[in-house]
Amino acid sequence: VFPSLVIRSSSLEARGSFAEAQATFLSPDPDEVRALDALLQGTNAGIVAHFYMDAEIQGALSQVKHPFVHVADSLQMAERAVDMASRGAKAIVVLGVDFMSENVRATLDAAGFASVPVLRVAEKHIGCSLAEAAETASYEAYLRKASQTPHSLHVIYVNTSLRTKALAESLLPTITCTSSNVVQTVLEARAAMPEAHVWFGPDTYMGHNLEALFRVHAASTNEQVRALHPGHSLESLRSLLPCFHTFEEGVCIVHHMFGDRVVERLERDYGDALLAAHFEVPGGMFRLALAAQARGRGVVGSTSNILAFIEGAAASAAKRGDGHERVVLGTESGMVASIVRSAQRALAGSGASVEIVFPVAEEAITASGDALLPVIPGPADGEGCSTEGGCATCPFMKMNSLGALDDVLSRLRDHGEAGVESFRVRPTADALGTQSIAELGTRSIVRMREFQKTGRMPSEFVRAVMGA
Ligand code: SF4
Repeated sequence: VFPSLVIRSSSLEARGSFAEAQATFLSPDPDEVRALDALLQGTNAGIVAHFYMDAEIQGALSQVKHPFVHVADSLQMAERAVDMASRGAKAIVVLGVDFMSENVRATLDAAGFASVPVLRVAEKHIGCSLAEAAETASYEAYLRKASQTPHSLHVIYVNTSLRTKALAESLLPTITCTSSNVVQTVLEARAAMPEAHVWFGPDTYMGHNLEALFRVHAASTNEQVRALHPGHSLESLRSLLPCFHTFEEGVCIVHHMFGDRVVERLERDYGDALLAAHFEVPGGMFRLALAAQARGRGVVGSTSNILAFIEGAAASAAKRGDGHERVVLGTESGMVASIVRSAQRALAGSGASVEIVFPVAEEAITASGDALLPVIPGPADGEGCSTEGGCATCPFMKMNSLGALDDVLSRLRDHGEAGVESFRVRPTADALGTQSIAELGTRSIVRMREFQKTGRMPSEFVRAVMGA
């Protein structure tokens, strides 16, 4: 069986060593928490952390009293950083990967907070397999082909560097998306520009999943299509299909783990469980979750959608008094920290429980031989950390550690901004031809922010795609 964590209103029960490790981290050492809190109060820094930080970091962050701490998806991280800066945070520490800290920097700059430093907690580059896929010659060739097709627009996944976004914008009009707004971004773009070709990238699974979703709706009814997006009909959705293009070589190495063998085991042994899967998972897992969603037994979407779904499952179990829900978690396992917090809120005062199932091997823990990080989630090889089983933890996200966070905050407290120069995220001064990468690269992010605010494609974007 896959390991699992049973969440009750005030206790956790781990089944399997992988789950035990997650559960241990969720009860952090009170001295460590006090020390972190003191550093945050002393520096008045804010922290925005991604849901995929490991349970050790999230466990500690959940206990600190300092007001400027937030764990979120990549879109909300930038929004919360702006909110913290407007309420007086003196610096923003980003716990995530490099495209996230760039995004926070660019969003703060656009919101008028260029003087608030943004800090990472690693001096080394923190990559991402998707971001790297978009830095290849084949992605550039994909964009060049798109730029030669009349009325083309590019929907770029947020998991890409500023340089990639700038190059894309230099070739064709581009708008950034996240997993929480990608469906509406594509549909609204097509509703505003019915002739447009939509080129999506770099996440291949997400592109194929979007196409599969549109195909399912294109075979439904006008009412169902309008419920998905009021500006569309069966006819307009069907006309989108041949104009929707996906890059074929971009994969998140974590979500890639939820392959066919996982799907087979879930179908065989977990047919009664709820299923929560990320939009980045391979097609088999996506179809399984989409079918579960149609039966009211699952969700497929962003990390925030997954969190809300599991909180809802906990609330309905609590309503039944002593109900029990089993939920398979089809995304990075670091999410469990936020899941535990929100599920326990929903379960408060009841005898109900929610069991989170990790589709990984039970022995999915490896001694790394590294003095700083002696044990890492995921086995060295074998089923637990392969396309057959999935260790479901992101090695890039795990380059952030609690010790490194303490170190950066201590330097900031003791030496001010001069002490954290090497951790500072700076707007790039590089240029593409005569145009600045900072300006070109943020244009697609600013468009996304406007779309988020108004629900409409920015008019300058429509003009750029369709011609004045
Ligand atoms: S989980 Fe890791 S590899 Fe996958 S998209 Fe996120 S940062 Fe990139």
